[in-house]
Amino acid sequence: MKFENLNELFRETARQLSISPCPFIEARLLIQQAWEMEETEFFCQLNSPVSEKQLKKLKSLLGKRLSGWPLAYLLGKKEFWNLEFEVNPQVLIPRPETELLVEKVLAWPLPGNACLLDVGTGCGNIALALAKERPRFRVVASDISRRALRVAAKNAIKHGVKNITFIQSNLLDYFLKEKKQFEVIVSNPPYLSEKDWSGLDSQIKGFEPRRALVAGPTGLEIFEKLIRQSLNCLKTSGYIALEFGPGQEKKLITFFGKDWLEPEIHKDYSGYPRVLTAKRAS
Ligand code: GLN
Repeated sequence: MKFENLNELFRETARQLSISPCPFIEARLLIQQAWEMEETEFFCQLNSPVSEKQLKKLKSLLGKRLSGWPLAYLLGKKEFWNLEFEVNPQVLIPRPETELLVEKVLAWPLPGNACLLDVGTGCGNIALALAKERPRFRVVASDISRRALRVAAKNAIKHGVKNITFIQSNLLDYFLKEKKQFEVIVSNPPYLSEKDWSGLDSQIKGFEPRRALVAGPTGLEIFEKLIRQSLNCLKTSGYIALEFGPGQEKKLITFFGKDWLEPEIHKDYSGYPRVLTAKRAS
């Protein structure tokens, strides 16, 4: 197919993406990615001719998108808390509802130089949002995956965040061994069951890391261990904030026994129970 100018190609790309909820936005983003240009440049170039090389690059991206690749992996980035994070298939794509975790943590009356731990940091979105909002906090971001930590460390550099360190750990194993304690533990851990996984949309199942999503047969396995471990890694009156999935709140709250105060469930902006907060008793 021959295109008079970029505008024609843009319209044809959007037509091909018509199953997507925002075909014109996606078409523009893919073109910007293929051309390596910003939004303003895109609009200035609409009357410009299209080269073979550019067309080839776009075709490859569009082919991947139509075969189910998540847009964020094709663009290599995703926005969270108004910050742009580099992402790749080694890390989960940040979801907007996870911002509620950041909000809850920021609302607590913490000392100015509080130590916070983000468990299973992935691309570093939660940890970096917190570190950026509170430059005096000391934030530790951990993950079992070294590859994920590499992405998170790159994101720290990208955003010029200095008050963060990265540690490889299976949940809290490293911190227990080192006897480290924090004012806050925050986590969006894997919380899907094997059954949830098999029912997932192929756009997620086919591309995002299973290890970041699936906890085990019931989906609660990681919570159970993380909550148990947290008691020894939280300072007295320290806080925990956890994201969880649909229908898990009743079971989850039973993991918070007499050693915990005020376990509370919070709804996200779509009205679904999404975040549990609690405080370690003294
Ligand atoms: N902390 C990251 C996020 O919330 C990754 C979470 C994960 O890998 N389970 O998006």
